[in-house]
Amino acid sequence: MKLTKTFVPTLREVPADAVIVSHRLMFRAGMIRKLSNGLFAYLPLGLRSFRKVENIVREEMNAIGSLEIKPTVVIPGELWKESGRWETMGESLLRVKNRLGAEFVVSPTAEEAFSALVRDELSSYRQLPLSLYQINTKYRDEIRPRYGVMRGREFVMKDAYSFHTSDESLDKTYEDMGRAYRRIFKRCGLTVIPVKADSGAMGGSGSEEFMVESAVGDNTLLLCKSCDYAANVEKAECKLDFSPRMSAEAGKAAAASTPPAKKIDTPNVRTIDELCAFLKTSSSSFIKTLIYKALNVELDLKAAPGCEGLKKHKSSPDSPETCAEAFFAVAIRGDLDVNEIKLAARLKASEVALASEADVERLTGAPLGFAGPVGLTKLPVLADITVTAMNDAVSGALAKDLHYKHVAYGRDFSPWMIADVRTVKAGDRCPLCGGELYEKKGNELGHIFKLGYKYTKAMKLSYLDESGKSHIPTMGCYGIGLDRTLASVIEEHNDEDGIIWPVSIAPYHVMIVPIKYDGKVKEAADNLEAALEKMGIDVLLDDREERPGVKFKDADLIGIPYRIVVGDKNLIQAPPKVEIKHRREKENKLVEYSKAAPELAEKIKAELAELNR
Ligand code: ATP
Ligand code: MG
Repeated sequence: MKLTKTFVPTLREVPADAVIVSHRLMFRAGMIRKLSNGLFAYLPLGLRSFRKVENIVREEMNAIGSLEIKPTVVIPGELWKESGRWETMGESLLRVKNRLGAEFVVSPTAEEAFSALVRDELSSYRQLPLSLYQINTKYRDEIRPRYGVMRGREFVMKDAYSFHTSDESLDKTYEDMGRAYRRIFKRCGLTVIPVKADSGAMGGSGSEEFMVESAVGDNTLLLCKSCDYAANVEKAECKLDFSPRMSAEAGKAAAASTPPAKKIDTPNVRTIDELCAFLKTSSSSFIKTLIYKALNVELDLKAAPGCEGLKKHKSSPDSPETCAEAFFAVAIRGDLDVNEIKLAARLKASEVALASEADVERLTGAPLGFAGPVGLTKLPVLADITVTAMNDAVSGALAKDLHYKHVAYGRDFSPWMIADVRTVKAGDRCPLCGGELYEKKGNELGHIFKLGYKYTKAMKLSYLDESGKSHIPTMGCYGIGLDRTLASVIEEHNDEDGIIWPVSIAPYHVMIVPIKYDGKVKEAADNLEAALEKMGIDVLLDDREERPGVKFKDADLIGIPYRIVVGDKNLIQAPPKVEIKHRREKENKLVEYSKAAPELAEKIKAELAELNR
């Protein structure tokens, strides 16, 4: 391909919002342009690399027997009402109406669409397992699209969905997908960290995310220094440095020598820091109590104090009863933070958030800052497991300027539920081996997920077994963001001059730069291009009338792995020569003109084979 025949508008400047290197380089190299916030167009060079990612993903999906289909991007709203996500998905779901007033969504993900398609065809166990995928446009009305195509509003996802008659069968497909994902990222030249992830509130039983390390990553990962434990902070657990007491009696027994709980005046003392200073003690001897509002709670709240009158609803006759809104008090050791994702998972809630000041006053009878578990009757108290070891603590006393001293779990209060909801931090101990945990920031490129029966039940999928009995299939889903994967390749492979593509994703493998594109040089460059293309190599020839310096700068910017410089001086040697250079290296190598094409083609093919191994 001649550069003047394609469309590669390279730039020296970048827009102010391009803060990360992949965004800057994709823009400068003429790979993408912005149409609007979160909406990007791929230009020819960008699209070539995008297609290479797409092909790798497709090959690896096909290799594990997943079948590609092409559903639509616009999905009937009806299906989303069946699953219940019409209500719970919130503002990120783009809802549209057609001219007749019928409601649709622009697909942000496709559990509903695939479940509906399979439902209509499924009758017998013989049709299962079934694994289907698409590589298709998604739309999410992200609040804050940023970092270019890393977090756009429109993007392309490979999403696969599998349906099974047993957990073992789901496990097998889940494992196959995990292996395929590892191969995909390796072939793209990416170093990924697979981490344990939150499997959501609704019955998911396993989930793994594929992360790349990134200074601007949206995810915090906890990794063990001594073993291979790796988890998203949303899911991370840690080894306890105390023995938990899981019954109120055990707590009470441990408090045998604790003086009775006593109210103390704490005028104008609200925060834990102020309280520490006032009582001259450390935050780990406080029971911090936070009031949370939870939405769409599926957990059975029958025995939960204060929840008697709450309104329940079902999104479909078969779906579990959910409570649209409920409040909870969460008690945790004062030096720790509550992890809201772990809390939401435990409550089977679609989301949780701190209650408003007015709600806190109404429910605890005290202004913000004085909640505590003792005497709290209007709310279910969920105690983090750390609280079960506390038998002489300080807590709020449900009145302004008042705290309790000598509070003992089990003696002075019995929580409604004990759970692990703490945020694990660097320095905590690995739950597997006790080693030290450390943190990294990461970006999620892919996610595999055992969904269980959430969608198949709500959307009434069924099949008959050998004896004619009806069952609901179990389900998995598996996603990879193609745009984010491509941007991550650039994040991992660049230098101050531009991109350095791995051969597998490079828009072209070889760039031919004639010093001056005419006469003998033109002829030699054209012949090289033709020879390489004949050998299956993707070639870009810079046929512009530009100074060599300009051409070299652009070549470095767009990052084609191999560069061949064709110039008069080398061509008149006997035998004629050209210069070959890898984008990563500083030095040129003089190669005989007649050997340049076959040698380079062989090298590139060997590199591709190595990545694909
Ligand atoms: P995130 O936490 O980053 O918002 P997610 O967990 O919502 O992602 P999934 O629903 O698991 O994403 O989607 C699968 C994949 O789709 C992600 O791993 C990511 O690669 C990609 N993806 C999700 N949202 C976006 C986006 N706004 N822009 C580009 N890619 C995205
Ligand atoms: Mg995810």
